[in-house]
Amino acid sequence: MSQRTSKKLISTNENILYELNDYDRQRKPQTLIDDNYIQCVPADPVLKSLSCPICLDLFNKTMVTTTCLHRFCADCIHRWLKSENKVCPTCRKTLKSKRYLRSDDRTDSLVDTIKKQQAKTNELAQIYREQQHDD
Ligand SMILES: [Zn+2]
Ligand SMILES: [Zn+2]
Repeated sequence: MSQRTSKKLISTNENILYELNDYDRQRKPQTLIDDNYIQCVPADPVLKSLSCPICLDLFNKTMVTTTCLHRFCADCIHRWLKSENKVCPTCRKTLKSKRYLRSDDRTDSLVDTIKKQQAKTNELAQIYREQQHDD
């Protein structure tokens, strides 16, 4: 009688055999993500990546450096360059002038979405507080 081996081999092609590891054998199938699926991500890292390192607020008219791809508000980085700081505030790479900056509409629209979401959350929080007050 042949001994049953615990190793399962999957053949996707006659010549190639893939061996499942312990993790593959234990893991459960994942549900597919569709448009109705709400993915929760911690707000902090998202907000941080959409915040200007100069004013620490969400980007306002985002500018991106062409040399190192760091982002700042238009006003913040223009003021920075005017004060004779000819380096990127984030990584200190040379940043000679405004010519090395480009506007970043995609980041602006992301920031816009976040701001709308924050407004909605604040509105709900306000309603909630008022309800608590009534009781
Ligand atoms: Zn700023
Ligand atoms: Zn930089």
